[in-house]
Amino acid sequence: MRIDLHTHSTVSDGTCAPAELVVAAAKAGLDVVALTDHDTTAGWAPAAAALPYGVTLLPGVELSCRWHGSGSASTGIGLHLLGYLFDPAYPPLVAEMDRVRESRERRAERMIELLKADGVDVSWPEVRALANGATVGRPHIAQALVRLGLVDSVNAAFQSEWLGARYRVPKQDIDVFDGLRLLREAGGVVVFAHPKANRRGRTVPDEFIVELAAAGLFGLEGDHPDHDPAEREHVRRLGAELGLVVTGSSDFHGGNKTVRLGECTTAREAYEQIVAAGRGAPIVSPIMD
Ligand code: AMP
Ligand code: FE
Ligand code: FE
Ligand code: ZN
Repeated sequence: MRIDLHTHSTVSDGTCAPAELVVAAAKAGLDVVALTDHDTTAGWAPAAAALPYGVTLLPGVELSCRWHGSGSASTGIGLHLLGYLFDPAYPPLVAEMDRVRESRERRAERMIELLKADGVDVSWPEVRALANGATVGRPHIAQALVRLGLVDSVNAAFQSEWLGARYRVPKQDIDVFDGLRLLREAGGVVVFAHPKANRRGRTVPDEFIVELAAAGLFGLEGDHPDHDPAEREHVRRLGAELGLVVTGSSDFHGGNKTVRLGECTTAREAYEQIVAAGRGAPIVSPIMD
């Protein structure tokens, strides 16, 4: 079985609509695809409605979280939690996702102000139109910079000072222990996304992952395009030590990133453990008629 447990659609910062994504998953030879947009479950219904024969949808989310316990910097360390099979209507979780999406909009406006102050001709209405109702992220601002011819690609915008440092404004993330608790209260299964991906910024120490495991974390994402072989092996060993499931996934973002669907995959046993533990929503298989 080919199983990819982390993908994004146009309801956040991917470039395939949810319905296109599940069709692309079938074409890529996947048996299972999880839809894990940033801070929203808006893609679940359109993805489920378009599910082609042979593909199972694992409904999920990628929550923008922050760990404040690092001691050093007062701002803490940003990190992402993947939640699967939770109740998407659980009010306290819905409220937190609404809050963080709202904060992403204010933050995008602020980043655009900083760009404009330096003479870059971007506007909030333009970026909002590029996002088209989705969870606004830096990739949308990057798209605007590509349009202006200031960078060649979204990836180049991240590699350069544009979005990496100079114009980067923090968003009001969810406290990581709150995020974990809310997903679990909603019946969900929680996997720590790309825990060692230090190309994205500072990563957390293993001692904190031990704390998360004690608080009910279910798994760690090991095989991820942003992890090198040593990091993947480290995550596998840590997962085995802590009794956590270890997953693999592409973190597909369509044309906003260069990774392909199914570039990294999850073992069937790990997937089945996740499905057995999820209580807030069912997996979705296509209706045959
Ligand atoms: P934000 O969530 O708004 O802070 O933006 C971070 C998002 O940008 C991540 O979730 C990735 O989807 C995306 N991203 C990070 N690095 C890159 C890159 N090098 N190329 C394209 N997208 C990236
Ligand atoms: Fe993203
Ligand atoms: Fe992520
Ligand atoms: Zn992701």
